[in-house]
Amino acid sequence: MKKDDCIFCKIANGEIPSETIYEDNMFRTIMDLGPASKGHALILPKQHYRDLCDLDKETAEKVFPLAAKLGNAMKKSLGCPGINVVQNNGKEAGQTVFHFHVHLIPRYEEGPEMVSWAPEKADPEELKLTGAAIRNAL
Ligand code: 5GP
Ligand code: ZN
Repeated sequence: MKKDDCIFCKIANGEIPSETIYEDNMFRTIMDLGPASKGHALILPKQHYRDLCDLDKETAEKVFPLAAKLGNAMKKSLGCPGINVVQNNGKEAGQTVFHFHVHLIPRYEEGPEMVSWAPEKADPEELKLTGAAIRNAL
């Protein structure tokens, strides 16, 4: 399904032009207009899914092999030794476009610095309780 007021539906389906680096019947991969580094790309399914929790099985199964294929092409063409795969779900997690997408962010020796956090010390009792809460909801 596509959503009429969704910009990524329009881009993924070619109604709005984009710098496309890959396209098949299910996905389009485009260059990000606000890149975090040189080569930053976005994998968009052509169907509308709000986020990871809304994704259908076939799309979910195909998106990581595609990320690997594109990641290898980035390494070969851009010479980036590393790549961050970033995928935001919900505005609290930094999602700004509510059509599922995967960021591929090439990383270079010279930077820039990003995708980091300051780890806190885990409380074993809290880990147990939180782990159990998630397990019980599966
Ligand atoms: P989010 O924050 O939702 O995970 O990521 C949205 C991404 O989409 C951002 O990196 C932003 O730069 C990119 N973006 C937003 N609008 C457009 C657009 O119209 N074209 C392209 N190519 N990228 C976009
Ligand atoms: Zn959409």
